[in-house]
Amino acid sequence: MNKKIVLALGGNALGEGLAEQMQAVKTTARAIVDLIEHGHQVVVTHGNGPQVGMINLAFEAAAKSEAHTPMLPMSVCVALSQGYIGYDLQNALREELLDRNIVKPVATLITQVIVNGSDPAFLNPTKPIGSFFTKAEASQLTKNGYNMVEDAGRGYRRVVASPKPIDIVEKETVRAMMEAGQVVITVGGGGIPVIREGNHLRGASAVIDKDWASAKLAEMIDADMLIILTAVEKVAINFGKPNEQWLEQLSIADAQRFIEEGHFAKGSMLPKVEAAVAFAESKPGRQALITVLSKAQQGIEGKTGTVISH
Ligand code: ADP
Ligand code: MG
Repeated sequence: MNKKIVLALGGNALGEGLAEQMQAVKTTARAIVDLIEHGHQVVVTHGNGPQVGMINLAFEAAAKSEAHTPMLPMSVCVALSQGYIGYDLQNALREELLDRNIVKPVATLITQVIVNGSDPAFLNPTKPIGSFFTKAEASQLTKNGYNMVEDAGRGYRRVVASPKPIDIVEKETVRAMMEAGQVVITVGGGGIPVIREGNHLRGASAVIDKDWASAKLAEMIDADMLIILTAVEKVAINFGKPNEQWLEQLSIADAQRFIEEGHFAKGSMLPKVEAAVAFAESKPGRQALITVLSKAQQGIEGKTGTVISH
């Protein structure tokens, strides 16, 4: 069965830093083209945590040493990250398609996502971006005015506001490219957060969660499946504990119960399960799959991963 799929790539699909990314996208492109070869219509989305953090920190450092360098609004940092990641990803996909004699144009779409200016998230920043810091470095950065939090036992990271996506400005273009049989890379890094002011779209100081934005996109282009590719093959309850249990099928009701019981870490697995539930319950027949990149096709066939559905 050929499916209309929104494929959300996690951090491990892109690696960290320029050299690592260029290498990582080759493996990623092979996995994506495998799905295309199976006849699926694939729309690609991706995260940008390390990249947007790197871009932001670089411009901050430049602004400190060189007074004429402008500080970049977070919306512009996200736009730059879409361009830089999309550039690597579309080239890797183009090459992999050509190597398999598949004629299919690939392009990256700079994508804006509408958020609500009075979203309570603006008052309580929660989204980790950029690299990890030690406790000592983090306390220094806190003094410099950054919001720093401990991230799932892996160190300290800067956090920014993460409002919910309401609408995708370029959704008609995504749909047109998909229907024309083209591969489109879109809502990179959750999309450029913008607030509607009449006909004007004003950039917001935020980073939208890519799992939430991908679920919104999947709904809007009427996808059959949302696939969230990450570093684990399945979702677990009691994750990391002796009674850890990996889940294969997850009903919406069970997912909601496990969310309430606190089984999924904030900022990592929680938004994935929440986004998966939001998509699966948006229309009968819609399914979400959470698995690793290398197992995507097996997951579609129901052989692995965690499937969230009615
Ligand atoms: P991505 O870059 O793909 O968004 P994240 O690091 O944000 O990846 O989230 C995936 C991580 O979530 C996994 O690698 C795992 O360490 C962690 N995680 C937290 N809670 C769970 C859980 N209940 N089941 C599986 N993984 C979990
Ligand atoms: Mg994440």
